[in-house]
Amino acid sequence: MSANEPQPLGASTAAADISAREAAYLPPSELAVKFAKGIHQHQPAKPHASATHEGKNPHLIKKIEDFYVRPRWLFVRIETEGGVVGWGEGTLEGHTESVQGSLRDIARRLEGWDAMNIEDIYSFMHRLRFYRGGATLMSALSGIDIALWDIKGKVLGVPVWELLGGKVRETAPVYGWIGGDRPSDVLEQAKVRKAQGFTRVKMNATESVGWLDSPHALDETVQRLAEVKSIGMDAGLDFHGRLHKPMAKQLAKLLEPHRPLFIEEPLLPGYPNETKDLYNQISIPIALGERLFTREDFRPYFELGCIDIAQPDIAHAGGISETRKISTMAEAYDIGIAPHCPLGPLAFAACLQIAFCTTNFVVCEMSWKMHYNTGGFDLFTYMLNPEVFAVKNGSVSLLAGPGLGIEMNEELIRKEAAEAATLAPWTNPIFRGPDGSVREW
Ligand SMILES: [Mg+2]
Repeated sequence: MSANEPQPLGASTAAADISAREAAYLPPSELAVKFAKGIHQHQPAKPHASATHEGKNPHLIKKIEDFYVRPRWLFVRIETEGGVVGWGEGTLEGHTESVQGSLRDIARRLEGWDAMNIEDIYSFMHRLRFYRGGATLMSALSGIDIALWDIKGKVLGVPVWELLGGKVRETAPVYGWIGGDRPSDVLEQAKVRKAQGFTRVKMNATESVGWLDSPHALDETVQRLAEVKSIGMDAGLDFHGRLHKPMAKQLAKLLEPHRPLFIEEPLLPGYPNETKDLYNQISIPIALGERLFTREDFRPYFELGCIDIAQPDIAHAGGISETRKISTMAEAYDIGIAPHCPLGPLAFAACLQIAFCTTNFVVCEMSWKMHYNTGGFDLFTYMLNPEVFAVKNGSVSLLAGPGLGIEMNEELIRKEAAEAATLAPWTNPIFRGPDGSVREW
């Protein structure tokens, strides 16, 4: 670490006796220990029972690892000098290698930093690297942020929701998926979801649709929604950004009499003004946000008042830290939060932690038995306590364990990651129209 590289919190005071010349030659871990001593004189945080001091701050980050596991998830594991292990998830579906590169770049810079100073580490990752935001960098940052909250909760012996102000609800509503990329037979699938304990589902509104397609391309969507509603379930329709304006506004109008729970990404991200135009034409709640990262990305949608439900993805938008802030910001615009989470158990647990302590949380996506969870890999595969995610009356009960509240099967994760490393990571299907042109997936 050179003198002009970013320094851990406390460096300006605790390290006042460390000259720039000395700092330039100290290894990061040693330098961080010197800085950290100054901070912890003033911090009451008690170390984890298993921590060993040996003259070192036990909360210093010792190692950050990432694990790509099937079906398509990227887990992050952070271990402190005191032996506390935190897990996070930075899954960015179809972009695994990109996020791994970012993760490894950040990981080597964070060695020796105090894991308890989450906000400071977030600031370093987001603000002190000049280039910021976007799907890849933010997913890497998210994975680390989630793991740090897991560590903090474990060190202090409380769930993350306790650290964020305490619980505001005992159960968190969730929804499961039906249909898949090419939805059909949704009625049978909806019945299965109902039997599993769900009261709400989500499905893709359409297959691929042309920029200006035949209006008949929309007929089946309306029929499918009516079928699902016929058994007393509510359903959100995910337009998936597949429809462009000429088709999106037609479909929204057609769906309106059938009262979907919400329509999601009726237009692609990046079109807040056009989304506002659509918003003004229909009464259906509009949800959006899985491809927005940080409060700054959400800001135009909030200020325009063109969405009802914000859907930050905790593994993309900035982890627990940023998702909490997006939620608080949304509340000021009377906008609810429905975390996007077709991902793994760590992202889901992190979403639930937000759910239990956030007033304007409304519902969370749950990937259990989702169409992408294939090959015998599903939401519970890598968990030692899957019972905490049991769905009853459409909700998951309060997570009581420390940190994220879930226990991971590290042996299985390491074994699977070694095997998955020999395989090509998951990528999304490619949609082309009859003329061969690319269509939105
Ligand atoms: Mg979506």
